[in-house]
Order: sequence, then structure tokens, then C-alpha cells
Amino acid sequence: MNQEPPPEVQITPHPELWFEDGNIELIAENVSFRVHKTVLAGSSDFFKDMFSLPQPPVDEPAEGETQSIQPDVPRLQTSETVEDLAHFLDVMYNSLRYFQKDSQITYNSLQAVLILSQKFSAEALRTFAIGRLEAAFPRSFTEWEAIMTGDRVQPVIYSEDELFSIANLARETVLTHILPVVLYDCCQQDIDWILEGIEKADGKRIELSAENRKSCLQARSKLTAATLQMLRTLSYARDGLCDQYGCISALRDISGGDLVNDRLLHHPMVVLDEEFESAPQPQPQGVALLNMVGAAPVTGIASLCRLCRDNCRNQMRIAREKLLRDMDEYIPINA
Ligand SMILES: [Zn+2]
Repeated sequence: MNQEPPPEVQITPHPELWFEDGNIELIAENVSFRVHKTVLAGSSDFFKDMFSLPQPPVDEPAEGETQSIQPDVPRLQTSETVEDLAHFLDVMYNSLRYFQKDSQITYNSLQAVLILSQKFSAEALRTFAIGRLEAAFPRSFTEWEAIMTGDRVQPVIYSEDELFSIANLARETVLTHILPVVLYDCCQQDIDWILEGIEKADGKRIELSAENRKSCLQARSKLTAATLQMLRTLSYARDGLCDQYGCISALRDISGGDLVNDRLLHHPMVVLDEEFESAPQPQPQGVALLNMVGAAPVTGIASLCRLCRDNCRNQMRIAREKLLRDMDEYIPINA
């Protein structure tokens, strides 16, 4: 008989979510979370119902069995991973931290809370998780713009491949009100990623679901058309405000498609922001004339005066606002 207990029965306490005064142990894999029945029952109808039933007696350790923690409280084996259960209990126990201004939550944590709150009928936690997703992918233009410009902290931390997972999760959990905004961000990704998925460092491939992929492909052509339409409207940006030949000429070229390239069409709107950010500020006319000798002529956005440039950005802002308002038309989710 083996004197050493097999490694799989070794239960170790979770480093943070194991409370001395806890009165129930949830086991995920081989990790124990010693928590409080009242806290579980307060958040979850599943646990509330379970604890209202007569409880089985606490198991005594079998002879010769060594355990790192004496099971002096009832143990419940769960089918969750350690990470998922830790995320779920962390939000349950530390919810105040997540309600602070500019608080952020990782996608992994959010996903675990969303899935486990459904499983354990924890309505308040599910509402919290959905609220975080709504804040990360808002339908309000002011909020959307604040996140895009970095004025507001993105409430959910996620990578490109996790963005695809969020889209799939939103589809699976029928969060159809945020799905178009998530898919809009997916549309900005590389076409190879949209078609074939993103390979992560560990070799795992994250793919958009077939429905989401179809929505993205249909949306991309609509978004391209919207981008071209917006570029056309930029020619009116100087209407009655500026008579400089350089501006008239540059805006005519831009609205006529001078800026259009592969990247602009595949990353609608994002590229325009970069163009406006990176174009050098116009120089005073005298300096510009001196520099003309031997220098490449200044064209496109760089040749616009400050007024025309600001007006262009304003036109883009109006176009974005319209885009968000009409998102459901641009991004068909039941494609
Ligand atoms: Zn101008």
C-alpha cells in the first residue's frame, strides 16, 4: 500500500480566498476556498437553496489520510477551474473595489463571473458583469468617444484575441445590445484574423463564431461605404470658412479619395484619426514658402490650415455619432 497519498487528493488552501472563520469549503480542482455560507447565500440563490436543506455531516479524514487542512467544515467539490472560482469569489467578496471610479477588470475575470453567476443564480453578480461589458462597449456616443480618446479608462482589460471571445460570449449569452459595438471593434481587426482566428502565444487559436464572422464580413463592406461617404463630406468642411487655395485643393483631393488605401478601408475611421494626429501642423505661410525650395510639396491633411483641420475632425465626429446611432444597420447581428 502506498504510504504517500496520491498527489490528486492533496487539497491546498487558496492563498487569498481562504478565511480562518469560513464555514464552508468550495473545492476547485485541488484547491480549497474556505468561505462563508452567509456570503454565498447572500449573492447566490443556488447556494441559498442548498444551505436551506439539511446539511450532511462533516467527513472525518480516513485513517492514514493526510490533508493539509483538516476538513472541520463541510466541503463541496465543484467542477470549476481554480481560476474561474477565484475570479467569481473575488468579485463576490471585493465588490466595492470594482465599483470605484476607473476600476478595471480583466476579461478572464469578467467571463468567469458572467458564466458562474448564471450557473449559481447570482443575479447581482451577473448584472455587475453585464454592466462592465456595457460600459466597455457603450451605445452612448459621449461614453464611446471618451473611451476612444482615452479620456476614460477602458473598464475591461482585454487583448485582441479576447475581443473575439467577448463577441462570442455576447452572442452566446444573448447580450445582443452590446454585440454590434463589440463586432464593430472586431471589424477593425486584420481580415486574416476575422477569417481564420488569432493564434495565441500558447498555440491556441481563438476564432470568431461562424455567425459573428458572417456579421463582420457583411459589416465591413457597409463600414467601407460609410467611410467613403464620410470622406466625401470632408470637402464641405471649409464651407465659407476658409478660402486658401491649399485647403480647397487638399480637401478636394481627400474627398475624391486621395487618402483611400487598403488600410484605411480595412480599418475604417481608425486610420483617419491617426492621419489627423500624425500630420505635421501647418507652418506659417512665409516659412512654408522658404521650405518649398528642394522640399517635397506638402499635400493632404498636412497642407490644411488649422481651421480646416478642426472642421474635418468635427465632420468625422458627426459621422461617428451617426455610425454609433445606426450601428444596428451597419452591423447586422442576425446575418
Ligand atoms: Zn483652410
